[in-house]
Amino acid sequence: MALEEPHGTQLHFLVIPITSPGHYIPTIDMAKLLAQHGVRVTIVTTPVNSIRFGSILDQAIQSGLPIRYLEFPLPTAEFGLPEGCESLDEVPSDLARTLFLAHSSLQKEVEQYIENLNPRPSCIVSGSFLLWTAETAKKFQIPRIIFDGMNCFTQMINHVLYLTKVYESVDESESFVLPGLPDRIELKRSQLSFIFNSGSKDVADLVEKLRVSESEAYGVVINSAQELEQGYADEYQKIKENKAWCVGPLSLCHKDVSEKALRGNKPSINETECLNWLDSKDNGSVIYACLGSISRMEPDQLVELALALESSNRPFIWVVRAGPKTPKIEKWIDDEGFEERTRDRGLLIRGWAPQLVILSHPAIGGFLTHCGWNSTLEGVCAGVPMVTWPQFQEQFYNEKLVVQVLRIGVSVGAQNVVHWGEEEKSGVQVKSEELRKAIEMLMEEGKEGEERRKRAKELSKLSHIAIEEGGSSHQNMRRLIEDIRKLS
Ligand code: UDP
Repeated sequence: MALEEPHGTQLHFLVIPITSPGHYIPTIDMAKLLAQHGVRVTIVTTPVNSIRFGSILDQAIQSGLPIRYLEFPLPTAEFGLPEGCESLDEVPSDLARTLFLAHSSLQKEVEQYIENLNPRPSCIVSGSFLLWTAETAKKFQIPRIIFDGMNCFTQMINHVLYLTKVYESVDESESFVLPGLPDRIELKRSQLSFIFNSGSKDVADLVEKLRVSESEAYGVVINSAQELEQGYADEYQKIKENKAWCVGPLSLCHKDVSEKALRGNKPSINETECLNWLDSKDNGSVIYACLGSISRMEPDQLVELALALESSNRPFIWVVRAGPKTPKIEKWIDDEGFEERTRDRGLLIRGWAPQLVILSHPAIGGFLTHCGWNSTLEGVCAGVPMVTWPQFQEQFYNEKLVVQVLRIGVSVGAQNVVHWGEEEKSGVQVKSEELRKAIEMLMEEGKEGEERRKRAKELSKLSHIAIEEGGSSHQNMRRLIEDIRKLS
């Protein structure tokens, strides 16, 4: 493989994303922003991921942006993964761990690459779960920056949970208050991320390793804007001794519709068809329902969602995704004639939806989301209020941020984490009537609904200002780059 050397004194960031869309997508966005600030960026990737996630930057790279992809083949066959399966949304649930192991095996190639590079990269940016990248950074004495794509609110909750262990003395379904946060945030143990919720010794050990690796890292990049997390961003800064940089919302780095449409994957719906459909609807009238990129929701639960969308009597877009269980929900759609019977107002997208394009269309009036942080933040940027239906990881925390702190959402009332890959155990958690009520409340024309919509628009404005020249995130990106320059 031909090696390029970073030119002169230009900083060089080596970026290593986790092989999941929710991580890859904002990492590529961040690479673009870094390069726009004059940093040379190398993204470690694999062949299928390079095309799938990377092609959004083709034009930018051709026009001279200093980004390159460093591609290593993922040893899928050696690890028993189906060929071409390089991202979490494509693997069978029981092979998720194997995918991470296969990805870890790239450590050797990455280290060889660094070994042959003179000068060495100025820093490594990687997900905290990629513990091997911490070893590599240590070995070559390169500063490592963590990028998990999460917000300061979540970081603060994790911090409080870890320090106080307040959840240990309560029952599963009992609410407890998180001490020391700017707002009175209550959670249940059954809503915590798996790192505080598994009870297994393996996970406890992993959490400890993550803590150590995080404390050894030089700092943390956050996909958020300070203005969206008043109080929490400041507190987190203190904990990280000013080595936390809020540089988002990263999705706003894409301005062109054609570029937005390619984000994360090639969309499975023709862009013009999608826009024409949206153009035919009144402003603020459409519910957009999408539960993220890796959703494997039980077909019975998806039926509840379909029925709620139908009974809401409003136009809707439903991104039908259930991983390996997709044929089951497709069969229900066919048997029931669901698509036919809602054809006058429903659009079903199978496969990849051009989410940024859809959310920024004026016809969208509400976003029914699983509260993954990327989706949530994209909703904020678009100025669209949200129906919140958290499923796993830190999604229940994001729901609190949206509903209670930002006050731009209505909860469907989910009570328990549905662990990814274990959906069958949870069955139907939320009935169609509860979903319909939340949609109704979000879309209602009364005072509360109006205020939510107004706040959503204000937050959208703040997000856009933050990322523009002179805005807080723009300045934080500069501060990050200067911090690394001082180290080099
Ligand atoms: N996404 C998309 N089209 C889809 C599904 C998801 O563009 O059909 C994008 C979405 O815009 C977001 C990301 O995939 O940027 C999902 O990340 P998020 O953190 O919301 O949830 P996750 O998929 O990690 O659960």
